[in-house]
Amino acid sequence: TYIVTEQCIACKYMDCVEVCPVDCFYEGENMLVIHPDECIDCGVCEPECPVEAIRPALTADDDEWVEFNGKYARIW
Ligand code: SF4
Repeated sequence: TYIVTEQCIACKYMDCVEVCPVDCFYEGENMLVIHPDECIDCGVCEPECPVEAIRPALTADDDEWVEFNGKYARIW
């Protein structure tokens, strides 16, 4: 899955949302998140982000971000 990380906070430039083929971005007050069960790993959102907040979850360190994204995707 891809994850949205802290650089997104208070940015919320929305081009990533528009390019996602499966509409798996969810919008909260301060940032966006990606639903980890819906993301198909296409990668088209990553270069659209001007603050480099989006990246693939690759290492164990990213697990917290996967959990965070999943938690809020389900709430929002
Ligand atoms: Fe959507 Fe593709 Fe980005 Fe996943 S990698 S959030 S499917 S645009």
